[in-house]
Amino acid sequence: MLTELRGLNEECGVFGVWNHPRAAQITYYALHSLQHRGQEGAGIVVTDGETLRIRKGQGLVTDVFSAECMEKLQGSHAIGHVRYSIGGVNGFENVQPLLFRSQNGDLAIAHNGSLTNAYDLRVVLEEEGSIFQTAADAEILAHLAKRRGTGDSFADRMMTALRQLEGSYAFVILTEDALYVALDPYGLKPLALGSLGEGYVVASETCAFDLIGAKYLRDVKPGEFITIDARGVRGQIFSEPRRQALCSMEYIYFSRPDSNLWGMNVHTARKKLGKALAREYPIDADVVTGVPDSSLSAAIGYAEVTGIPYELGLIKSRYIGRTFIEPSQSLREQGVKLKLSAVRGVVEGKRVVMVDDSCVRGTTSRRITSLLREAGATEVHVLIASPTIQHPCYYGMDTLSTDELVAAHHDVEEMRVLIGADSLGFLSVEKMAEVFDCGLCLACFTGEYPTGEVEASVRCLQASGS
Ligand code: AMP
Ligand code: SF4
Repeated sequence: MLTELRGLNEECGVFGVWNHPRAAQITYYALHSLQHRGQEGAGIVVTDGETLRIRKGQGLVTDVFSAECMEKLQGSHAIGHVRYSIGGVNGFENVQPLLFRSQNGDLAIAHNGSLTNAYDLRVVLEEEGSIFQTAADAEILAHLAKRRGTGDSFADRMMTALRQLEGSYAFVILTEDALYVALDPYGLKPLALGSLGEGYVVASETCAFDLIGAKYLRDVKPGEFITIDARGVRGQIFSEPRRQALCSMEYIYFSRPDSNLWGMNVHTARKKLGKALAREYPIDADVVTGVPDSSLSAAIGYAEVTGIPYELGLIKSRYIGRTFIEPSQSLREQGVKLKLSAVRGVVEGKRVVMVDDSCVRGTTSRRITSLLREAGATEVHVLIASPTIQHPCYYGMDTLSTDELVAAHHDVEEMRVLIGADSLGFLSVEKMAEVFDCGLCLACFTGEYPTGEVEASVRCLQASGS
């Protein structure tokens, strides 16, 4: 079980809608637009004000929900979740939202993030009599909120429970009579509030709003708890916000280019990163190409500043999942091979600058460098539009172990040799930070974790679990 806990760091997508006659259908479309945040499981809980109904399953949104089952999900309020589990922890029971039934009413919770004190909280709760049914962090919140003496109203109990959590979290919570939203005090995860007709919506990314025709209102504040019910929307700060630290990988890699995070469009941010890269590493080359899809914006930015033509030097197969989901290194390498091909007509006889958004294990860069050479590139210069990742992430990105991080064990010249590139460059932390207006977490680049010392507790979890 402890191994499972260690593995249950998740980068997921959450959505909620309050007061729409076809709440489940709206949630279905929203989850579809958040599908890039998780492809391993999806779920919707809907309420008509009387009871909560659930449908969830493993796989893609389109696999989990049939037209027939959607018809059964009647109600005006709903929450949904798409799940990307890390460390191979699968199982239907961990698919969210989690639904809890009790004599005081039903409760459904969906979570994006990773609690760094999950292990300690579970130990305490189990000693006090809680029996856990899943490895999901969302269940911890439910057990904490259920404890006696934690407050009068439901919202008070929730806020008392939230104050005990450490790490990253964006929660959407549904009861028969309200939708609640909570973001961790650092704002590590993205979460936005919008309006839709007479109702309200909340989503991990604003791209979900565009698809369903919702209007963006604002980002949820770090440490904010929002209640949405028949009386409208009320936000309150449940925990004094510390310094804002939105995960910078959301801008760099994870979010969709058409989403806005704290007012900045993701494509625009990536393009700026590419421009900054060009100023730090101007290369004499014939073409610039990006790794589809997340690096295309940075490659365009690089090309714009250097004047080198941007070309489609790499093509991605649309029908294979993200490489990162493959569990082992060998499978991952196979995955990269299946996924990407170099366009001979574009790169043959050319000096190529290949821009990627990030380098974690170095697998993608190595594979692509050799693909480009096989396709006739005379030089391959690999430029990464973010700094070297040298530290693990404890907040839900799939980089928990230092062992896996190529930059943790090699300097740039050693990495260049491993990758087989003619030159290799990474955007510096300073130049990257200049691109953004909002406070960011940069811990995987700098080792400075916004929540302070997390390594000790996570190490204890790893030692006992694996
Ligand atoms: P790697 O091949 O291990 O160096 O991983 C780098 C590639 O994975 C880049 O092309 C990124 O677009 C992508 N990537 C970076 N971070 C993540 C993440 N947390 N999850 C999935 N893919 C990622
Ligand atoms: Fe994001 Fe890196 Fe911070 Fe994790 S450590 S939250 S991946 S910036």
